[in-house]
Amino acid sequence: MTTQALNTVDLTIVGAGPIGLATAIFAAQAGLSAIVLDAGPRDGDKACGEGLMPGTKPLLDQLGIDPPGHPLEGVVYAQGAHRVEHRFPGPAGRGVRRTALREALLRKAVDLGVQVREEKYTSLTQTKDEVCLTTEQGATLTSRYAIGCDGLHSKVAQDMGVVKEVPRSAKRYGLRQHFFTKPWSSLIEVYYSKDAEVYITPVSEDTVGVAVLGRKGVNLETAVAGIPQLHTRLAGAEPASTLRGAGPFPHRARTQRVGRVLLVGDSGGYVDAITGEGLRVGFAQARAAIEALAIDTPAGYPKAWKKVTREFRVLTKGLVALASSPLRSSIVPLAHALPGLFGVVVNRLAR
Ligand SMILES: Cc1cc2nc3c(=O)[nH]c(=O)nc-3n(C[C@H](O)[C@H](O)[C@H](O)COP(=O)(O)OP(=O)(O)OC[C@H]3O[C@@H](n4cnc5c(N)ncnc54)[C@H](O)[C@@H]3O)c2cc1C
Repeated sequence: MTTQALNTVDLTIVGAGPIGLATAIFAAQAGLSAIVLDAGPRDGDKACGEGLMPGTKPLLDQLGIDPPGHPLEGVVYAQGAHRVEHRFPGPAGRGVRRTALREALLRKAVDLGVQVREEKYTSLTQTKDEVCLTTEQGATLTSRYAIGCDGLHSKVAQDMGVVKEVPRSAKRYGLRQHFFTKPWSSLIEVYYSKDAEVYITPVSEDTVGVAVLGRKGVNLETAVAGIPQLHTRLAGAEPASTLRGAGPFPHRARTQRVGRVLLVGDSGGYVDAITGEGLRVGFAQARAAIEALAIDTPAGYPKAWKKVTREFRVLTKGLVALASSPLRSSIVPLAHALPGLFGVVVNRLAR
């Protein structure tokens, strides 16, 4: 068993997903020492639409990373014969493979002196001065603060006692797989079928990502087969990754702080992937959490969390409610009939 001595580290972060690594980078930039624990696949691959909205770029700049990808110049909504597109008013976003994002963040974090350990978090206790975490590998880590960045099924959030039940009827799931084919567009395409939303994100010169959202049992092959124009595009394309799933969401937390333990990223609350967001909002939470800890005011974080997630929560909840209502089949025709309104929504997402 190993024990990290008190006060040798400011922060223990659970989860080396994009938000855990970003939190560690912001911490190191603020002069805080950090250890990150992760129990997942080494390459960090995960079901995700992989669209970084234009507003993510300034955060990537602050983090000091520039991961490779494919430019994203706007969004198209399609449903049956209806199609409406809107281009981002300013700089493009970027489609970035999770593995490329992970590599860039990990390299930066390690360069800044962050310790990243392949260990699974198992439990925590805290006093008024310190937090003590244990791992499945037998380590005990003591630090001034701890941050759970362990995603939708956050064990840290469960151990904090803040997870809120979600009714089964509200639960949705996501799938994704990549295919080798030259991207036919630099826009994110969103196809609304009867019971699923299918997202196409170009991620390199020869690969597109396909992400599908829907109720339990949603199937990627069936969803694509139900959209003739997409089925034709992908016919014969070789898979470039294995199929991965995520969910259920939403994940709800009563608060994002208990004492010296904070929740950042999906662990602190995640609505849905329908607006293709999560990363930008998570990076903004990471920055807000470190700003609070750098001045020893963890109590200020939940308010900052509300501020940086508000727009995402409102827009995403609204769109999920619409997509789950009898008005679902009217979403794209309505966007087509009201291109100005569609443009306003896309521009909000681009910020
Ligand atoms: C289908 C789908 C499509 C999406 N599309 C987009 C999109 O286009 N654009 C966008 O911005 N967002 C998108 N999102 C959302 C985005 O994927 C998430 O918001 C983002 O991954 C959250 O990052 P995170 O670091 O908080 O959590 P995660 O990426 O889930 O990382 C959590 C990490 O914690 C680790 N972990 C878990 N438990 C433990 C433990 N006990 N001990 C140690 N480590 C642990 C895991 O191994 C993992 O590395 C999508 C989501 C889905 C499901």
